[in-house]
Amino acid sequence: MQKPQKTVQGCPFCIKNGKVTILNETEDAYLVVAINSDGIPMQGRYLIIPKQHIESILDLPVNWQNSVAELLRLIPEVQEGAHFNLSYNQGSVAGQRVPHVHGWVIIRHIDEAEGSRGIGLASLINKAAKAH
Ligand SMILES: [Zn+2]
Repeated sequence: MQKPQKTVQGCPFCIKNGKVTILNETEDAYLVVAINSDGIPMQGRYLIIPKQHIESILDLPVNWQNSVAELLRLIPEVQEGAHFNLSYNQGSVAGQRVPHVHGWVIIRHIDEAEGSRGIGLASLINKAAKAH
């Protein structure tokens, strides 16, 4: 287990580096609107990020889910009853691009391509299985 650090220089998700615009925060985590590679906010996409620089989901504090639930309840679409996915990528092979834990909140809409059926974990597993 790696000891969490307050801030790692150059990390875009370390709060003290000032590269994120915070929507809401708890004692241990903060909520931002996700931005794409061009720096444009992604509608209906949020990130929940620990304030400390924690690289692995395995090193999150035991009460992490309390912060997640608290921040989820502050998302306007969630307050309105929207359905959403909450997911984490752990490690570069699994798609983690920034080595600072971040949970993706993806608001889902019934009229999106697969929205009426949902793209759940089972769908992702089936797609991954077909790729191998
Ligand atoms: Zn960081």
